Amino acid sequence: MMNLVIQSTLSNIAIIFFMHVCMVEILKKENKLKSSYVLIGRILIVSFAVISMFYLPVQYGEYRFDLRLIPLVFLAIRWGWKSAVPTLLITCLWRLALGGEGAVPGVIYGMILPVFVALAYQSVKKTVPQPLSLVVLFSVGWFISDIPIIIFVPDGWSVFREIFIVRYPSYVVTALILHLFIIHAERDLMLKQKLQYYADHDPLTGLYNIRYFQKAVRAYTDASKRMYIVMIDIDHFKKINDTYGHLTGDFVLKSVSNVISEVAYAQNPNNVVIGRYGGEEFILFLAVDDKESMVSLVESIRARIESNVFYTEKRTSSFQVTVSIGVSQMVDCQSLQKAVERADRCLYSSKNNGRNQTNYAEGI
Ligand code: GH3
Ligand code: MG
Ligand code: MG
Repeated sequence: MMNLVIQSTLSNIAIIFFMHVCMVEILKKENKLKSSYVLIGRILIVSFAVISMFYLPVQYGEYRFDLRLIPLVFLAIRWGWKSAVPTLLITCLWRLALGGEGAVPGVIYGMILPVFVALAYQSVKKTVPQPLSLVVLFSVGWFISDIPIIIFVPDGWSVFREIFIVRYPSYVVTALILHLFIIHAERDLMLKQKLQYYADHDPLTGLYNIRYFQKAVRAYTDASKRMYIVMIDIDHFKKINDTYGHLTGDFVLKSVSNVISEVAYAQNPNNVVIGRYGGEEFILFLAVDDKESMVSLVESIRARIESNVFYTEKRTSSFQVTVSIGVSQMVDCQSLQKAVERADRCLYSSKNNGRNQTNYAEGI
């Protein structure tokens, strides 16, 4: 008999881990997929797992039970009622359709009540429970699901005690193992996302690094727009570092990048790519309808930085900052390098002509 218990318990655990693997795949694509698809995917996967368990119950003597509570309770505490209630509806209806005398108490005590306890817990705590609270939560769920045995089965209390040794540990241990797997998968995913972020972004300003900037610009396709490359260099930045220290220098770099982003995204939200070219130089790609829009945007950036008040890192003193700008037109996305060189020469002219100004390449 023990063999049968172990076999059927393992099949339930296998279903739970298969569900976990599918959930991780959804988690990985969460940012790319529509949120409604993610929700539907989650509901279907957990429903599938729970329904599979109906057909592979753990058999212990004449008793049959399963680990259906584990996916349901996890769904409730991690993703709340929006995922849990539809899943509960699908799986409860399925269980009722299967019939049998245990159907109604199985649905009420074995599914609905424990899930609502978990949802109540989640709405009060609002965080994923720590292992100890998880053990308590699953113990409560398990106990509720076994109430029918105590109430309805003749000599229920001794039956409850007899199957306790198989049922309780398998519930709690499987739930804890699944919890560890989920935590591990989430950490892995966060690390990957962090690595991806730092592979594409400059850590100080949060702007794209030059490698990703080039990639984004080369991928841009909208032949109907005029495309420009704008190079922006902070004037006398070395003096800021020398006077106020490098931390203030860094703070200024962040503030200037914020001003550039604010102005550019406010005026041209969909067709702009902003990168840190290196040191105190920034690079912008703009795709606009006409030259006037570009001139207005570039002039706004220069004027906003000129009028902005910058502070030292500890806000003990304030000072002004200006930038010099060079702009060139880019005929197609593949000629980025040439456009950068031309914009750089214009930037050089801005520096030579007294700084705090913009120079445009000829014929743009
Ligand atoms: P110009 O008006 O001609 O551009 O003069 P400048 O002082 O701005 O230019 P210069 O090239 O002489 O100096 C740039 C300075 O920027 C030198 C370098 O130490 C500093 N710098 C580069 N990257 C960083 C950074 O990430 N943080 C800080 N604080 N300073 C940086
Ligand atoms: Mg400079
Ligand atoms: Mg420079």
